[in-house]
Amino acid sequence: MPELPEVETVARGLRQAILGRRILSVTLGKTDFIDDPAALEQHLPGRQIEAVERYGKFMLLRLSAVNEETRAATNGDAAPASLLVHLGMTGQIAPSPAGQPLEKHTHVCLLLDDGRELRYTDARRFGRIAYLTKTSLAEELAGFGADPLEVSKEEFANRICERRARIKALLLDQSVLRGVGNIYADESLWRARIHPARLGTKLSGKDAETLRRALQDILRKAIVLRGSSISDFLDAAGEPGEYQRHHRAYGREGKKCYRCKTAIRRAIVAGRSSYFCPRCQPSPRSFAALPLPGKNRRKAERRGAGKSPRNTGKS
Ligand SMILES: [Zn+2]
Repeated sequence: MPELPEVETVARGLRQAILGRRILSVTLGKTDFIDDPAALEQHLPGRQIEAVERYGKFMLLRLSAVNEETRAATNGDAAPASLLVHLGMTGQIAPSPAGQPLEKHTHVCLLLDDGRELRYTDARRFGRIAYLTKTSLAEELAGFGADPLEVSKEEFANRICERRARIKALLLDQSVLRGVGNIYADESLWRARIHPARLGTKLSGKDAETLRRALQDILRKAIVLRGSSISDFLDAAGEPGEYQRHHRAYGREGKKCYRCKTAIRRAIVAGRSSYFCPRCQPSPRSFAALPLPGKNRRKAERRGAGKSPRNTGKS
């Protein structure tokens, strides 16, 4: 599931590939993941793609105002607007020559003025696409927390150390930080030697700063390596990322810790599979008392996942 580095990678690829192109027409397949499909068909044609930005795990295609020739068809909504794209679990977005046969599960095609189509494919359709005016975009983004790459030492400490929630849950909570998911939460906690079940209120200012730096270093390195390809993540040029080779905790259950050679463990924390080194990341007493998930772990995980509605990113 794409997190901040993967979405940033796709956004950078799109910036190189489609910036300045004008959208001529829209063709839709299945639309159950699109907020208002008719709005795409009505409002996208005629607009130019002026910027591609990342906001947490969202991509935002910033669209120009509609020009004079197409104004009549837009029902009065001619002001600059945005197209929000969330890749969900299996979403991919990339330009292709318009004549090229469609990949399976292609659900959105935007014909561009250079003869290519910007195509969105999504096998599981957990992604989301929405046409947003300036006002609806502001409402959409209002509840999100700080960008982890830009958050200051003070703001990070305020957002983490004043909450009686497990640090893993806080990292995943998009209203605390936007863009972190399961992989980069586990990797940064391992680097900072903090157990995922520790409470935010129990972390010292020094712990918080160690974690902030670990998180930023890891996210930056992952962006340089174009993200982690765990299952099927591909960038805008159809290439997998390489950061998965640098994972130190995530997905390494039973393998030796790179620091101390103790076997990496996995437990359910905040409703999610969490990987950690039991020696480098000592568990808080409250957590050690809980029974370890056994055979029913998948069930426990599903139950737990349903209990964290604020974790909108699913990854
Ligand atoms: Zn260790």
